[in-house]
Amino acid sequence: MNTENIGRLFVVAAPSGAGKTSLLCAILKQVPNTVFSISYTTREKREQEQDGVDYRFVSHSEFQQMIGDGCFLEYARVFDHYYGTAGKEVASLRLQKLDVILEIDWQGARQVREKIPDSESIFILPPTRRALESRLRGRGTDSDEVIERRLADSVADMGHWDEFDYLVINDDFDAGVKDLRKIISGNGSQFRKNRPEIKALIDKLLTG
Ligand code: 5GP
Repeated sequence: MNTENIGRLFVVAAPSGAGKTSLLCAILKQVPNTVFSISYTTREKREQEQDGVDYRFVSHSEFQQMIGDGCFLEYARVFDHYYGTAGKEVASLRLQKLDVILEIDWQGARQVREKIPDSESIFILPPTRRALESRLRGRGTDSDEVIERRLADSVADMGHWDEFDYLVINDDFDAGVKDLRKIISGNGSQFRKNRPEIKALIDKLLTG
């Protein structure tokens, strides 16, 4: 496919607690022509969520049917639920020259990279382990055990940083939005993963 006449595809992943959703919502508001693809999921709808807006909530058997029908560009089991991106939706948005953002996990990011080589992937990292922990704690009334498990999951997710094209450190929110905007506008070479200062930061995040 001639990719000059279609919108670009960005895959954005992050460990939970890195602040990805707030950053991406700001991007969507500020950058014209960017849209999210709405994922399918088998998980329960949360109170503040809307079907068809936040996700398309489907049953386990509907999801399995969609896998069988080849509907998904990518899908993965994340925690105890399935999540997937509809291939047709992404293709149709790109044909409308919209830049599509997939807010998915590293497993899905890997599948998209293989299927759509011109996609660009961004991994968002917290600035420190302490910041990650306090963001995970800040969510509410979860027990220490739950927080510990989330932290371990987030650290495991961060182990995949090297598979992504760009790394954004979400230290200051406005700066994070600015960095993402640069990448999305095609001026983000300074955020490529192979910059020298990244290795030390990653080591600290991964080893605590
Ligand atoms: P949550 O249930 O908190 O909304 O999302 C849990 C995780 O699932 C997040 O890491 C999110 O990025 C990931 N996720 C959401 N949609 C998709 C999707 O379509 N595909 C994949 N692979 N992961 C997804």
